[in-house]
Amino acid sequence: MGGDDVNAGTVLTSSFRAVGSSTVVDRELQEGQVLGSYQLERLLGEGSMGQVFQARHVRLGRQVALKVLRSVFAHDSTFVQRFFQEARSVNQINHDHIVEIFDFVEDAEHGHVYCVMELLRGQCLSDLLREEQLSVLRIRRMAVQVCAALSAAHQLGVVHRDVKPDNLFVIHKGGQADFVKVLDFGVAKVLTAEGTSGTLDGTIIGTPTYMAPEQAAGLPVDHRADIYGVGTVLYEMLSGRPPFQAPNFGQLMVKVITEPAPPLPSHTPSGEPVPQALAQLTLRCLAKEPGDRPQSLSEVITALLADTWPELLSSVDEDRRPTQPMPAAVSLPAPRRSWLAVAVGALMLIGTGLVFWSSASSSASSEALAPVTLTVHSVPSGARVVRSDTGEALGETPLVKQVPRETSPLGLRVELAGHAPSEHEVRLDAPATLSVPLVPVEPRQSQGEARKPVPGNAHRGKKAGTRDDLIDPFAR
Ligand code: ADP
Ligand code: MG
Repeated sequence: MGGDDVNAGTVLTSSFRAVGSSTVVDRELQEGQVLGSYQLERLLGEGSMGQVFQARHVRLGRQVALKVLRSVFAHDSTFVQRFFQEARSVNQINHDHIVEIFDFVEDAEHGHVYCVMELLRGQCLSDLLREEQLSVLRIRRMAVQVCAALSAAHQLGVVHRDVKPDNLFVIHKGGQADFVKVLDFGVAKVLTAEGTSGTLDGTIIGTPTYMAPEQAAGLPVDHRADIYGVGTVLYEMLSGRPPFQAPNFGQLMVKVITEPAPPLPSHTPSGEPVPQALAQLTLRCLAKEPGDRPQSLSEVITALLADTWPELLSSVDEDRRPTQPMPAAVSLPAPRRSWLAVAVGALMLIGTGLVFWSSASSSASSEALAPVTLTVHSVPSGARVVRSDTGEALGETPLVKQVPRETSPLGLRVELAGHAPSEHEVRLDAPATLSVPLVPVEPRQSQGEARKPVPGNAHRGKKAGTRDDLIDPFAR
């Protein structure tokens, strides 16, 4: 987790109060102590707002993580409110790549305030980066998950505002390595139709090193601050260091607000060349002006997947392969490949029936009715995803959507003008990701040349992630 330097910890400043992770020591909680129904077993982590313990339900034996608000804050209704906001935001989003919160407890008698969360077993990305050198493929795969989680949050009007490697936890799930969970919506802000709520006037919240310039300047913040945050994480994964570093808070703030991010190195710490498109995407996310960044995380996902999704698919681990075998070599369009090659690749994929990565969790009975996340990408993006049985439109690719868990496969059709519709079956007994290459229809032309797919271009001019996405035809 975060280093001890001034740059690392989340800072909450309200009036003259500044609290960094290294400035408050509050160790009154001991392992073995019982809080309500939970016995504390081990300290897992500490941040600005509280301590996180591994704990066990004293009667049921179930292990959980407890995030306990520091006692200095537990009596401060503003902080309690903010802490409660975290639980509320997270539960609203209910996404596989966001840590699940089971309960929020305010024990007035003993002065304890805490959240009960799913216990994650793994390590935060900052630790992982210290221990391992990540391949570009792993970097992209993790970044896509972070974007999918935050995109779901943004669709509900929730902005995380503290996206950084410390708040991204990497676990194994259902045999899937590098499964990322976004933590710590503690400084999340829920945007309302009227404007904003849940913020304190004059409050700067976030982590200096990863803070968006507008956030550092105390200006209004929207979802594009998280897009900046994703940029900082990509930057660090690709270069081994965050974009801005300075010996003190003031100099850091000046750099964050005024200086462009330094160019990325030509090679990652693992010695792999940094793809130019990925470097450009990263720097675009880090633009000082929110309007110069990609405007939605769907756009970032599309860019992350545009030229590499076949490799992402073919790198699927043994135990998270699709239920039917993948073709040994799925080759997909290099930019200049003919549409015929695209069609062959596509048909090979379609021939497998379904293509998805899945957490493949064995569904415990309590999970049986919980919704699952369906993610659909297409190349090109901007395609309509439609239920084959009812013709109901689910949204446009890249699509990240909560749908009811289903025991029988669901037929989906992915449609885009100028392309052959693509039919797929997905199993929704676990989170599913479907990646669909769309085959341009052979031009019945005499005029003009054959159309080529232009990854990432199809949705240009359309509004990605509109509020329409919130109208969930499956909603119960
Ligand atoms: P803070 O607001 O204090 O930064 P976080 O939610 O980020 O709180 O948690 C601090 C640290 O505790 C994390 O970086 C992580 O190492 C650990 N942690 C948090 N939640 C969990 C969890 N559900 N399971 C396991 N470890 C966790
Ligand atoms: Mg944190």
